[in-house]
Amino acid sequence: MSQYVYYFGDGHAEGNAKMKDVLGGKGAGLAEMTNIGVPVPPGFTISTAVCTYFYEHGKQYPPELKDAVAANLANVEASVGRKFGDRGKPLLVSVRSGARASMPGMMDTILNLGLNDETVQGLGASSGDERFALDSYRRFIQMYSDVVLEIDREHFEHELVAVRERVGAQSDAKIPAESLRELVATYKKIVRDKLGRDFPQDVQEQLWGAVGAVFNSWNNQRAITYRALNGIPDDWGTAVNVQSMVFGNMGDDCATGVAFTRNPSTGERKFFGEFLPNAQGEDVVAGIRTPLPITKLEETMPEAYGQLVDVYKKLEAHYRDMQDIEFTIQSRKLYLLQTRNGKRTGFAAVKIACDMVDEGLITNTEAVERVEANQIIQLLAPVFDAEEKARALKEGRLLGRGLPAGPGAAAGKVVFQADHAVRAARTGSGPVILVRIETSPEDIAGMHSAAGVLTTRGGLTSHAAVVARGMGRSCVVGAGTLQVDYHRAELQSSGHEPLEEHDWLSIDGTTGEVISGQIKTRPSEVAQVLLYGTMKAEESETYRNFERLLRWADEIRTLGVRTNADTPEDARVARLFGAQGIGLCRTEHMFFAADRINKVREMILARTTVARRKALDELLPHQREDFDGIFRELAGLPATIRLLDPPLHEFLPHTEAAVATIAREMGIRSDELKRRVEQLIEVNPMLGHRGCRLGITYPEIYEMQVRAMFEAACAVKKDGIDVAPEVMIPLVGTIGELQLTAANARRVANEVIQEAGVQVDYLVGTMIEIPRAALIADKLSDTAQFFSFGTNDLTQMTFGYSRDDAGTFLPDYVEKKILPKDPFESIDQEGVGQLVRLGTERGRSTNANLKVGVCGEHGGDPESIRFFRSCGLDYVSCSPYRVPVARLAAAQAELEQKAYEG
Ligand code: ADP
Ligand code: MG
Ligand code: MG
Repeated sequence: MSQYVYYFGDGHAEGNAKMKDVLGGKGAGLAEMTNIGVPVPPGFTISTAVCTYFYEHGKQYPPELKDAVAANLANVEASVGRKFGDRGKPLLVSVRSGARASMPGMMDTILNLGLNDETVQGLGASSGDERFALDSYRRFIQMYSDVVLEIDREHFEHELVAVRERVGAQSDAKIPAESLRELVATYKKIVRDKLGRDFPQDVQEQLWGAVGAVFNSWNNQRAITYRALNGIPDDWGTAVNVQSMVFGNMGDDCATGVAFTRNPSTGERKFFGEFLPNAQGEDVVAGIRTPLPITKLEETMPEAYGQLVDVYKKLEAHYRDMQDIEFTIQSRKLYLLQTRNGKRTGFAAVKIACDMVDEGLITNTEAVERVEANQIIQLLAPVFDAEEKARALKEGRLLGRGLPAGPGAAAGKVVFQADHAVRAARTGSGPVILVRIETSPEDIAGMHSAAGVLTTRGGLTSHAAVVARGMGRSCVVGAGTLQVDYHRAELQSSGHEPLEEHDWLSIDGTTGEVISGQIKTRPSEVAQVLLYGTMKAEESETYRNFERLLRWADEIRTLGVRTNADTPEDARVARLFGAQGIGLCRTEHMFFAADRINKVREMILARTTVARRKALDELLPHQREDFDGIFRELAGLPATIRLLDPPLHEFLPHTEAAVATIAREMGIRSDELKRRVEQLIEVNPMLGHRGCRLGITYPEIYEMQVRAMFEAACAVKKDGIDVAPEVMIPLVGTIGELQLTAANARRVANEVIQEAGVQVDYLVGTMIEIPRAALIADKLSDTAQFFSFGTNDLTQMTFGYSRDDAGTFLPDYVEKKILPKDPFESIDQEGVGQLVRLGTERGRSTNANLKVGVCGEHGGDPESIRFFRSCGLDYVSCSPYRVPVARLAAAQAELEQKAYEG
């Protein structure tokens, strides 16, 4: 028979820290603390297996549970010398939920359970403090009624406030016994009125009512939603902890509080916390009384403070991690009620991990495991001046909130059009925030010129979010309570004056806050040292820790990390962040640049091959210049350069007005331009004339690009700088497409190399982004020297979801659990991932030297990186600012893989 209940108390527990699955996080912590001699009130944990049983058996308990609970309760009674339901010396308990992972949405803790009209007198008499007993009783009725009987807590709050006001008490602790007695009577009347029966006086009924409420709360909406959002399986179940009460509300030598063993926002090695004298647990969070800083405890209760310091040091040394603890002091004696690894910011995570290595508490490898890979982004992003931000919030300048899409803070003048942002950058008129309903590829130059981007529509994988993340731009998307009125050029939000073009706006892409006015920002210390040279490494501990941690990660990982970079500047940033080359250089971004977009348009509008070649010839030097810069920046690191991919109409204007302006600029007739635009319009451009399909119908386009690439490569090589170009053919689905385009590319490359008379080694390979390509990978790898999985398109095409349109239904899919999460954010391992695994295996089966990487957005997502490592890929490629994230995640993936392989 399996054990359903686990005792802890008197220095010995049946469970321990390793049993989180069975005991939940809270229960495992209570057991472990008991075992290492930390003072914990005795109690027992009803295991998660009971929760599972409860749901598998129509909400029945296992038959042996009643006896097990009774036996454990008897042990607790013996330990504290009080009896549950006893009139003279009653035992009181708390009933606390505790899942494996801490989970808001679960039932609130009930304190002081076991009180009724009789035991309350016993408690008063045995403690010699009637007021305290009545205070505990009124708290119990209120909590129990709220969470078990489901009577709105407002009814009770209302009466409590009324009493407080009537007797003129500053706080609950000042309400006299007499008034508390009346309050208890009022509370009981509320229960009778609302429920039609009395508040339960039978302590067993109270106990089982509370236990049942915990198990039922596992499936309340809040808990279900939280699990869905955080990927917690529904069948884990919660445990229930029943624990004898200690009292922080028994007088002025009592208190309750919470603390962190180190500062959770900075990581500073300094005890950090708050407490309330003469109070019970929930008072600290309730906000009725402002808690005092923990330093005050040292002054007012030095003895208890001393115990607390001993205990926190012991716990930190034992868990070898920063702990978040909850404690109560009863008559100068300290009790611990909870410990867990403390949540922390990215800054604190890095500092604590590095400090603990220096303190000899953990190894380098453990430090790498400790920092959540995504959190490292915080160290790179600019931050608001803390005082100015606090002032802005106090002044009510918070306009709204959106999704935090791009790291860090930015302030600038509002512009509503991408070209206004470009113009502002060109004229040096100060930073701007580009404000759009949503963004599209035409806005890229404007986004690049802006200090930040705000959209009112779209999710974390919308165009704006993806592009901004790539650029490291601060970005807030989907700020749905704000309205953009392009016509009036206004950003509207209810309760505030609308912002007009050139008004100041501040956004925080780490928190999603949108604030009117200008809040000062400064670049992160890491950026100041690495990118701008405005700070020295010696001056920034944050930078030094960042560098150390990533160096440790590099020593562990085998998966390469490259970057998606379209410009020399991106390549420079990425290299400084540790990228080992470029995994995706999108050549079309070069086409959008202001000095060449019209040449591109001429090329598209050309009626004859001769005319097209002429336009291409004029584009060639520009493209060569781009590649030249990139090769020099990379100094011999590989650069995968993708030939033109998007459909041509993306380069042409779409509105009447734009057609007219551009026709004028180009010196052609506007109806002629309009006709060509109409010709190029496709019903479904995503599946239309794009990628290698363009290279096949217009071979001269790819020829120009390959020529530009190799002319640049040869020139750089001649200057004594190594180059490693890799030509990548996009959107291949058949052998023929690859053979034809690859042969052309090799021909042109060899010609250029021969003309130049230098030795340049290069590769030709393909993107795998059409499911068919993954299936025929063994044939493609005859021709291709490398594969790069374009997982954005591969996801679109495998699911048949258009990434640009999926925002309308994907959130619903995730909520209804049709999908575990947005497959554009984290790779769908079951389906799309299978194509990655299979494509890699098949490709390598015919070409053992095949290099395989990933260049979709997934290349920067830690969970996807873990999966790619398990597929045996050679590298991932991600946007420059995510390179440190990927380095850390790749190391963590390596450690997991090693553990898995044993
Ligand atoms: P949460 O998960 O919301 O933190 P807990 O179960 O930790 O809920 O309970 C909240 C607080 O209630 C604790 O921090 C503690 O102050 C108080 N508490 C819980 N159990 C006891 C107990 N047996 N004796 C005294 N206080 C308790
Ligand atoms: Mg707690
Ligand atoms: Mg693609």
